[in-house]
Amino acid sequence: MNRTNEQVNLSNPSSLPFRLLGGWIEQPSDLQPKLEGSLTADVIVVGAGFAGLSTALELTARGAKVVVLEQEFGGFGASGRNAGYLLGSMGIEFEMFAKRVGIEHAKKFVNFYDEAVCYVERRMIELDIDCDYNPSGIIRAAIDPSQEKWLRRSMKVGHELGSITRFVDQDEMRARGIPPAFLFGSEQRGGTLNPGKYVSGLRRAAIQAGVKLYEKTPLLSYSEGSTITCKTAHGSATAPIMVLATNAFTPQLGLLRDKIAPIRVSAIETQPLSPQQLASLGWHGREGIITPHLTMESHRLTAHNTMVLTVKKLNYVYGSKTPNIPDDHAYTALARTLHERHPSLRGLGIKHCWSGYVSVAYDFLPVVGTTGAHQNIIYTAGCTGHGLATQSMMGQLLAEKIMGTVNPILTALYHKTPSTLPEPFQWCAFKTAFTAAGVYDRLTDRKALAAHAK
Ligand SMILES: Cc1cc2nc3c(=O)[nH]c(=O)nc-3n(C[C@H](O)[C@H](O)[C@H](O)COP(=O)(O)OP(=O)(O)OC[C@H]3O[C@@H](n4cnc5c(N)ncnc54)[C@H](O)[C@@H]3O)c2cc1C
Repeated sequence: MNRTNEQVNLSNPSSLPFRLLGGWIEQPSDLQPKLEGSLTADVIVVGAGFAGLSTALELTARGAKVVVLEQEFGGFGASGRNAGYLLGSMGIEFEMFAKRVGIEHAKKFVNFYDEAVCYVERRMIELDIDCDYNPSGIIRAAIDPSQEKWLRRSMKVGHELGSITRFVDQDEMRARGIPPAFLFGSEQRGGTLNPGKYVSGLRRAAIQAGVKLYEKTPLLSYSEGSTITCKTAHGSATAPIMVLATNAFTPQLGLLRDKIAPIRVSAIETQPLSPQQLASLGWHGREGIITPHLTMESHRLTAHNTMVLTVKKLNYVYGSKTPNIPDDHAYTALARTLHERHPSLRGLGIKHCWSGYVSVAYDFLPVVGTTGAHQNIIYTAGCTGHGLATQSMMGQLLAEKIMGTVNPILTALYHKTPSTLPEPFQWCAFKTAFTAAGVYDRLTDRKALAAHAK
């Protein structure tokens, strides 16, 4: 149920053009077959996003026979719907991390997030994936002076943990042509890419490498033991090891409900900017911008000259469900944000709106481990809204572990994940937290608007 009306009317959110698959990706023309009959493999990977495809590629390169089961097609989940920020440790809440696991352990998490950026940059070259990567750096930019204190404190704690960032002052922001709504910020290496092209490149590389990818093949159930048999609608696959790379969908398989919650994240994409609009914007470096709001905003230009904004309003669906439906409140908030931060683009139409699900642990840390009587079910989830780099690199870490070498970076990620609340408490807790964050962020927005109006 795509909606195609391009006449944006913020008082009528259902006029916003919702797209079921997001703005970056189509169902592939070479859809891989459904699984029919029974087969065996060394490893079964469930889910073909960054994590699943990366794991399958890394395992195949090490000589394993790998089967991937995907309920729709490679890139259907968050991997094909995100904002395309290849971002390292700057995306994480340093103070909370340090309090939760201690300074020394937190340093290792920071190292994982930053190494993961290098991993993806290397893989794009090794696998010859052209995904419009612009290594522009990412700036976490304040929209109001009241955000400076938090920004500087976060940078200071980050530096203590080994996260390399630099402060970009107002003069430099203006000299670089960053839109004037963004006053100053903290910058880290990384950049923006087209996530649809990146995940499709992983999918193509996996098929070429000999990974048996079965699409439109949801895992329906599995039996545990020294070997695991995965049942699908028309067949079954058996292997000594199963990797669950199903991210936010995992609780629906009856696993990780006590560790992660699926959170809905939304995005809007504008119509292409005209050459005049691009010139008036003057944003030469096209740096990816995120803000230090409690619920952040992200603003970026794409290689096809549209602008993509994400987040601003998060949502949680009762019972950890993940329906692929519009989130009109989020799209309206993003459209309003577009007009507030980029007044020179007033009148620019919205081309697409979409949503996807990330998985979040209560400590916002990655959730990786093994389960089952034989500890041969491996799972990876919980990289919140920063899984492009991390879930890609997880592929290498999991493949190494399966083939018998445990990378110290993986060992460092093991920790006790706090238990989630049962319903209805989890639903109430998320709704309350998101509403409170929204009220606080709106106050910041109003202060910024008032300052700009002077
Ligand atoms: C709007 C939005 C913006 C974001 N922006 C960024 C960003 O800029 N930078 C960043 O780092 N991160 C971002 N993220 C987060 C990032 O996209 C995710 O962390 C990452 O894609 C997770 O990858 P994954 O492979 O673990 O999961 P997914 O991509 O969700 O893959 C899971 C796969 O499992 C499949 N599956 C589920 N159940 C079954 C089943 N029963 N049988 C078979 N297959 C199944 C799904 O169809 C899906 O393809 C964003 C997310 C969203 C939604």
